[in-house]
Amino acid sequence: MIVKQIWTANAYRNFNYLIACSDTGEALAVDPLDHEKCLRAAKAAGWTITQILNTHEHRDHTGGNDAMVAKTGAKILAHKNARDKIAGMDRGLAAGDVIKVGKTVELEALDTPGHTMSHICLLAHTDQPALFCGDTLFNAGAGNCHNGGHPAELYNTFSEQLARLPDGTRIYPGHDYIENNLRFTLDREPDNTNARDMLARLSGQDPGNAFVTTLDIERQINTFFRLQSPTVIARLREAFPDLPDKPDQRTVFLKLRELRNTW
Ligand SMILES: [Zn+2]
Repeated sequence: MIVKQIWTANAYRNFNYLIACSDTGEALAVDPLDHEKCLRAAKAAGWTITQILNTHEHRDHTGGNDAMVAKTGAKILAHKNARDKIAGMDRGLAAGDVIKVGKTVELEALDTPGHTMSHICLLAHTDQPALFCGDTLFNAGAGNCHNGGHPAELYNTFSEQLARLPDGTRIYPGHDYIENNLRFTLDREPDNTNARDMLARLSGQDPGNAFVTTLDIERQINTFFRLQSPTVIARLREAFPDLPDKPDQRTVFLKLRELRNTW
């Protein structure tokens, strides 16, 4: 499996991806909003785009579909419940479905509601696993829920699915938000030296050659995986004085998600 992360350099800071079979050169494009950049990258690598995967229905993820299909005839795959929101869907996905790319690539569809209620993450069970997580998980952050999502569902997705993935899983999100997210982590947890060091290291990085985190790094720098940190809880109590003595992780997650909206 070969992964190409494509930086769109647009105002929304989208990342698009090509996932290719090293044997046949067939490729799947994840959320190819910048269809021209995706097509150029595929051509340069000698790949043929045969499938499009939309992680979810938002326009900054689906807006390149029509042009990409017109140029390649690629099939559109998305969550089975997105059929009335994404035009021209060829295949509706449910949890556990397998997507093959060429001969060598197999991706598992994870049903990951929260950012929207029809959101798919793709998991590659390669030697080093990889997760294409759309707007569910960002580097050092979590997706918002104010365009068709639900914070409680997002918490369930984090706790029951994402947190259980192997430490070494490489994280490929739908947007480059790492700098801003690290600032939020440090606002919530000022003594997080890992987040501080990473912010110093990545400030002003070229998103065209972005640092790729792993799940174990996310567990260190992503507030939404640090729900038991005494500092996170103490700081949260400053904002929410009626927070219980030993708040459960769900409560901490929901309060953090709420704060992030106003931050
Ligand atoms: Zn979105």
